[in-house]
Amino acid sequence: APVVLWFRRDLRLGDHAALLTAAKHSKHVLALYVLDDRLLKPAGSPRTAFLLASLRELDAALGGRLLVRHGDPVGEVVAAAREIGASAVHVSADSGPYGRKRDDAVANALAQHRIEWVVTGSPYAVTPGRVTKPDGSPYRVFTPFHRAWTRRGVASPAETSASIVDWVEPGKSLPIPNSPSLGDLRLPPAGEAAALEAWQAFLGHDVEHYAAERDRPDHEGTTRMSPYLRWGNIHPRTMLADLAGDSSDGAQALRAELCWRDFHADVLWHRPETARENYDRRFDRMRYDTGAQAQEAFEQWCAGRTGFPIVDAGMRQLLAEGWMHNRVRMIVASFLVKDLHLPWWWGARHFMRHLVDGDLASNQLNWQWVAGSGTDAAPYFRIFNPTTQGTKFDPQGDYVRRYVPELRGVAGKAVHAPAARPQDYPDPIVDHAEERQIALQRYGSITGS
Ligand code: FAD
Repeated sequence: APVVLWFRRDLRLGDHAALLTAAKHSKHVLALYVLDDRLLKPAGSPRTAFLLASLRELDAALGGRLLVRHGDPVGEVVAAAREIGASAVHVSADSGPYGRKRDDAVANALAQHRIEWVVTGSPYAVTPGRVTKPDGSPYRVFTPFHRAWTRRGVASPAETSASIVDWVEPGKSLPIPNSPSLGDLRLPPAGEAAALEAWQAFLGHDVEHYAAERDRPDHEGTTRMSPYLRWGNIHPRTMLADLAGDSSDGAQALRAELCWRDFHADVLWHRPETARENYDRRFDRMRYDTGAQAQEAFEQWCAGRTGFPIVDAGMRQLLAEGWMHNRVRMIVASFLVKDLHLPWWWGARHFMRHLVDGDLASNQLNWQWVAGSGTDAAPYFRIFNPTTQGTKFDPQGDYVRRYVPELRGVAGKAVHAPAARPQDYPDPIVDHAEERQIALQRYGSITGS
């Protein structure tokens, strides 16, 4: 009997462990994608556009044989499987809180029709929940997780391609919807071929410089693979296999970043409530500002009009590209929590609406890491000074001038603290030294330090 391969965050055909398992069960595989409003509604235009473009690429790679449905996955997956008399539905695991509940419901519904539910692999190098301390408990700190993750090793890529099975002609398929309008926002090309091309280009030129360059937002020093990883246009195993045997600083640093991605997914798997709640419950007593003035400050932060050039450049890069450099994500997040005293989840929600790589595990837990409420957090008292951070990581000011046109007339690093501000650029909305003291006091009141 034929089987169904239900695609979710694995929109590719190479290195696809679930496809390999499906192919072992049957020569005839139906490729299915279900547009689910529960995921689409909060996704934001950049992420939705990237998803839809990835689906178009996948459909093309399948010779137009992707079955697209729209609705509740429980009904849609069961219906699609029954229509072709499938004996099984194959998936890659989804370890997020919603995905787990949805998958339990789908698996139960399939069982009522005696259709098997088969889970192979996940979007991570190591499936969340698998790296544990010797006593079986989860790691709470990155460094020992990283050590155990490295010791464990990563499986080799699965050898798959479009031609390992015969794709079943889909019955009634919906057209893939048009992408939402993005205005001036420019996204990278989506899909597996684009992901592999971007990765090969990075491997060829930039990996050796990665350790030195990854903190420089003014340079193109990082992989920009995050949207491709988010949608599974590439599997991290492919990337790790290409890096295997390379002991350069660049390769080591990049492996560690991919491990951070696994670590956050592992934390969310063990503690699904941390998508919304503090990992460190002491922070439940932290005082954040939430009134009308806080709302106004939040809007200035969102628009990139705080009067702190590196913060404003980052927030405007997010609006212009649906992406922000990691160093600047840390700076703007620290500014929101420790200079404006706003709740981290306000910032996290804004990021999730605008990031093309927006991912619940990476986003919420990085936010918590910066806010001090997460695992392994940076010590709370180490508060970023936005001006010093700007001068250090954007030493000539090129990054700021790229995204904040009002400041293009200010040369060199002076752009981080312009002596005379152009009329159309705001004065700083807060005094960093004062806000730093307030942040420390509030922190002291929850820790008694
Ligand atoms: P590279 O430096 O080239 O890293 C390679 C890959 O490693 C990335 O694509 C990503 O998959 C992974 N990675 C790197 N750093 C981290 C990290 N700190 N945590 C988890 N994975 C990491 N990343 C997301 O993918 N989605 C998010 O929603 C997200 N939200 C963030 C929010 C905040 C407040 C912060 C501080 C970081 C966030 N990150 C998020 C992590 C990181 O900023 C991005 O993964 C990175 O900037 C993506 O660019 P890149 O692909 O060029 O990264």
